Amino acid sequence: MIVEMRSGTTPEEIDGIKQRAKSLGFSVQLNLGTDKVVVAILGGNTGQVPTDVFAVLPGVDSVTRIMKPYKLASRTFKKEDSVVSIGGGVSIGGKRIVVMAGPCAVESEQQLLTTAEAVKQSGASVLRGGAFKPRTSPFSFQGMERAGLKLLARAREKLGMPVITEVVDSHDVGLVSKHADILQVGSRNMQNFTLLTRVGKSRCPVLLKRGFSCTVTEWLTAADYLLAEGNSQVILCERGIRTFEDSARFSLDISSIPVVKKSSHLPIVVDPSHAAGHQSLVPAMAKAAVAAGADGLLIEVHLNPEEALVDGAQSLTIAGFARLMEELAPIAQAVGRFI
Ligand code: PEP
Ligand code: MN
Repeated sequence: MIVEMRSGTTPEEIDGIKQRAKSLGFSVQLNLGTDKVVVAILGGNTGQVPTDVFAVLPGVDSVTRIMKPYKLASRTFKKEDSVVSIGGGVSIGGKRIVVMAGPCAVESEQQLLTTAEAVKQSGASVLRGGAFKPRTSPFSFQGMERAGLKLLARAREKLGMPVITEVVDSHDVGLVSKHADILQVGSRNMQNFTLLTRVGKSRCPVLLKRGFSCTVTEWLTAADYLLAEGNSQVILCERGIRTFEDSARFSLDISSIPVVKKSSHLPIVVDPSHAAGHQSLVPAMAKAAVAAGADGLLIEVHLNPEEALVDGAQSLTIAGFARLMEELAPIAQAVGRFI
């Protein structure tokens, strides 16, 4: 249930709502908007309580039920777009389309630093690199783990570039957030609720990838796990879903961008690399994402894609990435953004 307060509401009136909710066994979350305070009343059986219970309290403007399973991620709770600020003066969800680029996996210091310098030069503002790799097979390279995190932190320091990396284990959230500016929750972990709860308790910005077999509703409901714990720095990432079509690695669900924009206040970035599975498809998919309203891109780039330990086939070369960045600029401009 969403309680919208009248403008100019007092702290006592807001307290009145909190007390009433508490007496009914519900919890609350506040959205202190620029002109209005909105209170979400949360709990399993809010549907059984008449809206009048809150509508009659002082300072209340309106009470609405949220019919969707996700509450805090919804536009009903927060009408204005959320903008997530990360280190280095970079924000996601504003006019600038933020490009995060780098190798699928950190492989060595030289590989990471050379790639980081090159992608920065071409206009990427966040460095990506996996240290913990959730691989389909236990016999595949699992990442450099702690040593990889150290290299990411070194690259961040050297280049002044914020870093995004995946966290796969709830026990590693503290460790990974010390070395990174954005915690990535991967597609395979979108519904790992223990991990989401732990990441939600951290105050580190988080990029929540869409599970490749999950609906947009399930994805936004998973985002509620992060928001419910008080982490409001949530970025969504569309990375392709499983369909009957097998000509690309996954099917990039472009429609999820306007659907998310309509249903949620959270920023959305697109990962064309994992959806494509092949580097030749990446540029067109990246351009389509920007044209459709994505707030950013997450792109895999490798010095020598044929020698990459993970995801070489879908990685752009340094030159390919530089070319794509040039081609994206006029598309961003056409939709009122810049890159
Ligand atoms: C990745 O970004 O390297 C990755 C493993 O992505 P996904 O979780 O989307 O498969
Ligand atoms: Mn990858």
